[in-house]
Amino acid sequence: MLKKFQQEYATKNVQFILIDFDGAILESDQAFLNINTKGLLVDIHPFFECFFSIKDMLDDELIFNCVHLVVDQKEFVTDIKFLKEEEGILVIISDYTSHYVAYQAIAQTRNESIINGELITIKNAELEERERFKNIFIRNFSHELRNPLTSIISITKIISNTDLTSEQENMIQFLQESNANLKLLLDDILSISMISSGRLKLTENVFSLSQLFELIEFTYKTKAAGKGLKLEVKVDKKIPDYVEGDRLRLYQVLTNLLDNALKYTHEGKITLNVQFNQKRANKVNMRFEVLDTGIGISSDNYDAIFESFNQLNNLNDNPGSGLGLSIVKGLLNLMGSTIKLTSEMGKGSNFHFDISLKQPLQTTNPILKNKKVQKSSKIISDKKYRILLAEDDINVQTVLFKLLLNTGHFYIDLVNDGSLVMEKLINDEYDLILMDINLPNVMGDEVTRLIRDFPFKNIKKIPIIGLTGYSFEDDFASFKKAGMNAVLSKPFDDQDLIDLIFKYV
Ligand code: ADP
Repeated sequence: MLKKFQQEYATKNVQFILIDFDGAILESDQAFLNINTKGLLVDIHPFFECFFSIKDMLDDELIFNCVHLVVDQKEFVTDIKFLKEEEGILVIISDYTSHYVAYQAIAQTRNESIINGELITIKNAELEERERFKNIFIRNFSHELRNPLTSIISITKIISNTDLTSEQENMIQFLQESNANLKLLLDDILSISMISSGRLKLTENVFSLSQLFELIEFTYKTKAAGKGLKLEVKVDKKIPDYVEGDRLRLYQVLTNLLDNALKYTHEGKITLNVQFNQKRANKVNMRFEVLDTGIGISSDNYDAIFESFNQLNNLNDNPGSGLGLSIVKGLLNLMGSTIKLTSEMGKGSNFHFDISLKQPLQTTNPILKNKKVQKSSKIISDKKYRILLAEDDINVQTVLFKLLLNTGHFYIDLVNDGSLVMEKLINDEYDLILMDINLPNVMGDEVTRLIRDFPFKNIKKIPIIGLTGYSFEDDFASFKKAGMNAVLSKPFDDQDLIDLIFKYV
């Protein structure tokens, strides 16, 4: 019974042709090629020309795979086998057309997927390169902006302390507000580039949560009242007073959320609600909620608003950059938390997150120790100090001269080239150096290294405060490693600089 099927199927795709040793066809079945049994093998297809060059080398058998034959206008993809027999040569042609076509399709798909894979790799590399370029660009660009901004802020402050007409006073106030906005924008752009490049490192210090809430309540009550809104800060009694974490970044998250709540609420109330969740080991988990009764956000936009530069209501009176919430999201991610949102259009929004912070042991509360240190650093003697200012930007020079001379505590010498610093130090005595990093000829950190390696103690030990337009923490770390006692980022607060100088002289 099986023979019948074998005859029907097995032989259909295999053709047997017997030829003599000169290539004349002796016999053939007609499985799938119509063959003239009186002709020559080469008559079937020019491929068989090869027979004349192989017939003498043919010992036993020879196979050719994937041979394309076009016979009677039909195309076949075949494997062809030559077998040497006593009676002549047996040619077995197996038709694998469908097999090879499928195989080719698979190979093509595979090739395409390899090519696609390579394209994705290239695209990723391109994206990474673009991201790297963006971060370097932001870093350098903000660095370049910091010098002029420092001058503008400080000069505006100096002018504001002179005798002004009321019209001039108004203009100065406007200028100061614009400066503050510009500085905030620059800080936001830097924060987002630091977060996305993974360069933002959180610090861990003990701080007072209750003081943080007091500061927020004080600042935002005034702001809210200015818009005719109420502000409430509700803190669960179980929330510990002292915790360990990055106070500045937590403050940045809360103020960003509160600023938005104020911005997008026109009547009603803003609430900061802090609830105790649980305590495990020495970690306290708590929920922070910022609630408003403002315009609300539609649930379709819940994801979009956390993207950089995304703003929903492009209101003319919205001075934001669209970076606030992406900074909140990035900072909370770093702190191991996630920002969540529930909102109803026209009714208000609730931004909330749960966060775990360490609770320090009461006996080793470093805040109390720090307080003592701070007090003693504030004692200012009547002595005058000699400061060497190494700075090449003429505007920053002017500002620093005015600021420091106004205090009446300093004499200042100036160099505007890194290569001149050592000469100055050898010829004169100084109590402190204010050193710009980006100095011509020899960079500030390089000069610092030379000073720290100098053999004479009086020069080697001079306190050095670095001034830089960069504000990445790893830059700061590398300047300190070069031997700087402290580094201030431009534009700096006048009082911060003076406090720092008194700390080291
Ligand atoms: P912006 O600088 O525009 O405030 P954000 O990243 O802080 O940027 O916010 C992104 C967008 O999310 C805002 O433009 C606004 O449309 C929306 N948004 C944020 N907070 C609120 C809120 N409390 N109520 C309503 N809409 C909000």
